[in-house]
Amino acid sequence: MVSKCEKCGADIPDTATFCPSCGAPKGMNQPQPQPAQQYQSKPMGNMSQGSMEDLAKTLFSRKMLILGLFIGVLLLVISSFMINFTEPNVWDDMHMQHFGTVLRSISYYGMGLLLICVGLINDTFNKFYRLGMIIAGGFILA
Ligand SMILES: [Zn+2]
Repeated sequence: MVSKCEKCGADIPDTATFCPSCGAPKGMNQPQPQPAQQYQSKPMGNMSQGSMEDLAKTLFSRKMLILGLFIGVLLLVISSFMINFTEPNVWDDMHMQHFGTVLRSISYYGMGLLLICVGLINDTFNKFYRLGMIIAGGFILA
């Protein structure tokens, strides 16, 4: 069995992939899969939006909530030590106290924001938990 070259009409043996007469690839007029073009046809906007959603889901997942609250409470404990177990009249301790106060507000703000963001974004929790997290976060921030 031989087939005809689509370019020059010469006979091409079935075993050959190119036309022996003109060098054209066999069956070059047949539609060929183009994986590269399929990639390009995907709109860039959707892709970046999808990765943003993935990022948000990773950032506000259950694990991150637990980790964030754990770190927040740990920082609160450390800051309360800094504030309460230092002498107010010693210069170095005053710096420590000031740093402790800043650290304490950062921990509160961090936990409050984390709770609100997880409540708003994470849809793996049920509605009441999410609402509770948003309210709790609001209370912490207020
Ligand atoms: Zn040919």
